[in-house]
Amino acid sequence: MNTKQKTLVLEVVRETCDHRTAEEIYIAAKARMPQIAMGTVYRNLAQLVSDGIVRRLEVPNGPDRYDGCTECHEHLYCDNCGKVIDVWCGDLTGAIENATGQKLSSYSLTLRGLCEACGAQVG
Ligand SMILES: [Zn+2]
Ligand SMILES: [Zn+2]
Repeated sequence: MNTKQKTLVLEVVRETCDHRTAEEIYIAAKARMPQIAMGTVYRNLAQLVSDGIVRRLEVPNGPDRYDGCTECHEHLYCDNCGKVIDVWCGDLTGAIENATGQKLSSYSLTLRGLCEACGAQVG
């Protein structure tokens, strides 16, 4: 694996909090390294996800998105425009374990709603 390409892909993922899709990451990477191939970007992304450096988000009704912030946070998906918003609700493991009496190995939440802009339109 070419370290320079991997570093570039990571930089592109981390430079915004937009939760870009693989295609958007490829376009941004190509702007800086014109010879980079789409397959290379995808392979590096998969590698960064398995290294635990980048988080892959499975988006309902859309392509997966990538998050350079691996600190514990959840995501809210806007029903109107599809925007992905960070939700800093802390680690809920303890609260869920208390409520269920079960030990959790992990959890994932799917939050749906409206982002600020779309919520403002509705009134
Ligand atoms: Zn929205
Ligand atoms: Zn996020």
